[in-house]
Amino acid sequence: MLRTELEISTFEDLLYHYPYRYSDRSQVSKIGSVNAQSDQVQLVGTLVNIFDDGEGKRKRLVATLYDDTGRIELIWFQGAQWMKKTLKEHERYIVYGRVSTFNGNINIAHPEIEPLNAETAVAGLQPVYPTTEKLRARGISNRSFAKLTQALFEKIGQGDIPEILPANIITQYKLCNRYNAIRWVHFPDSVEHEQVARYRLKWEELFASQLTIAQLRMKHHIQPGWKFEKVGDYFNDFYNKHLPFQLTNAQKRVLKEIRVDTATGKQMNRLVQGDVGSGKTIVAVMSMLLAMDNGFQACMMAPTEILAQQHFQSISKLLKPMNINVTLLTGSIKSKERKEILAGLADGSIAIAVGTHALIEESVQFKNLGLAVIDEQHRFGVGQRARLWSKNETAPHILVMTATPIPRTLAMTLYGDLDVSTIDELPPGRQEIKTVNRTDIHRARVMEFIRKEIDKGRQAYIVYPLIEESEKMDYESLMAGYEQVKIWFPEHKYRIAMVHGRQEAGERQRNMERFAKGEAQVLVATTVIEVGVDVPNASVMLIESAERFGLSQLHQLRGRVGRGAEQSYCILLTSNKLGLDTLRRINVVVSTNNGFKIAEEDLSMRGPGDLYGTRQSGEFKFKIADIVTDVAILEQTRNAALQLITEDPGLRNPQHMALRELILPKTRQSHWGKIS
Ligand code: ADP
Ligand code: MG
Repeated sequence: MLRTELEISTFEDLLYHYPYRYSDRSQVSKIGSVNAQSDQVQLVGTLVNIFDDGEGKRKRLVATLYDDTGRIELIWFQGAQWMKKTLKEHERYIVYGRVSTFNGNINIAHPEIEPLNAETAVAGLQPVYPTTEKLRARGISNRSFAKLTQALFEKIGQGDIPEILPANIITQYKLCNRYNAIRWVHFPDSVEHEQVARYRLKWEELFASQLTIAQLRMKHHIQPGWKFEKVGDYFNDFYNKHLPFQLTNAQKRVLKEIRVDTATGKQMNRLVQGDVGSGKTIVAVMSMLLAMDNGFQACMMAPTEILAQQHFQSISKLLKPMNINVTLLTGSIKSKERKEILAGLADGSIAIAVGTHALIEESVQFKNLGLAVIDEQHRFGVGQRARLWSKNETAPHILVMTATPIPRTLAMTLYGDLDVSTIDELPPGRQEIKTVNRTDIHRARVMEFIRKEIDKGRQAYIVYPLIEESEKMDYESLMAGYEQVKIWFPEHKYRIAMVHGRQEAGERQRNMERFAKGEAQVLVATTVIEVGVDVPNASVMLIESAERFGLSQLHQLRGRVGRGAEQSYCILLTSNKLGLDTLRRINVVVSTNNGFKIAEEDLSMRGPGDLYGTRQSGEFKFKIADIVTDVAILEQTRNAALQLITEDPGLRNPQHMALRELILPKTRQSHWGKIS
């Protein structure tokens, strides 16, 4: 249970399961003093009047907490059943939560609540641990963690948690020792020690990530690579005769950076960053022609079949007049055809391969792969990317294209090992996408509007949210939405296609194609269409429950329209009862088309974990550091890491042994016992 819910399986993991805040039992507010302006409050009172309120979707559990100065409502929308079973009327509780207003009354939704007893009444800083509804339902409370950890600390000593940072770093950055840091973060004896401990642990965590990155970067810069010595006929012919438009200055500049970089004899590892629609594809294509001019093959890898397909089509079209052999390789390509493709790649008769992960399977051998483009991916971790083509004796040049403009601090952790080129200019003549926020009440008018656009010959996307935590319900509302859409757009006149992740790849692809070819006018979809899909005739993007999306995600989705000559629209449909915070978020997307601005806002409002999945997935999981607010530490650790890696690239110095283990956690033999 602990393992599946929180990835805690050893006692060591338990040590690293840090509290995310402390409740200071000396800070208890009187209920009478709480008002709509109060933010987080801690209250002690007696619970009465526990009852179910509302019907169906609006059903919730309500209870009243009172003390000698007043009363306040506590509300649960989820897990109400279980709460109802555990809470007892006329008992005293200690409650912590955020005050909000509903129907003119103040209340606290989903408070942390514990019975007041000898244990919980202890004054001083009490750790509060991250946990899940499931664990709570099993009776594993915050207090259980505190007890377990406390018991563990009674058994171990300083020697069990040895220092791992070099002494000079400890001194230079004034860090406390590791044992104290971990002890104090769980059981601080003062606010000061708590902060000192946190600082040290954040430092260590960010340092580990920066060491990995510094090592990679170092490796890249000494890694021999193919030398693209000349610009030849492929590149020049395309540029002079077949380029369907003028390159923007930004595109020219980035191409030049790539040319310089690939001519040095060192391996290129470059990120091309550019907002949606800035024209990254053509930069990739021309880089591939450069590879061909120098006698090499090139490939382009996309994260999904749909995208690979699209890239294949647009690249084939661009290169058609030049008689270049372009091939598509994805997982759904079957054995006989696949065999031929593999043969073509191995003997060099195929110059350019476009595909998915299928491109990096063991069985795929290129004759001489000179350049690999990885499109639209914030999905590979730093290390994963480095391993992609490690089987080749000389690794190809790597070009990573990302549409998500990335704030600098995040770039330092996600792409710190890459050199960066930015396309900071959109092709001329683009019409600004008109973005509006409408609420459920306006649904009929919105649908009417979309119908009119379609009757003018356009196409529309209707996108539904889909998040892991509520996947089942989200699929249900997607299906319900699809039925609704069929009513608004009756079958005798309109064609509707639907794509989502539960369809099998072939079916999804067929539906996507129907839309791409214009056979269907409406595409009902989940965020599977988030990245890269290019259907220039689509001019309306309707996003259902827009408040549930991240800002960058909304921006990505919006980028699916505004690709043709027509005025395009993005409609953010939301509930009509939005909180102020949410309204503000939505307004950021309404008010600007600048992806970079949106990414910064998003990062500062939501935190990177939610945004890019850097907390949940990928290489670096930050338990305690926050790369938005801990910029200063991030800079320090980056400098320290660069310096250390310059002095001792392989971390061979015995003093650095522990660091080596720190950044290679998978090979580490743990001497800690497992928790059963
Ligand atoms: P993204 O950067 O989002 O991948 P694409 O490469 O798909 O953008 O380009 C978006 C659209 O803009 C494509 O239809 C492409 O043909 C067009 N485009 C790219 N560069 C230019 C340019 N310099 N001038 C005019 N249109 C361009
Ligand atoms: Mg693209």
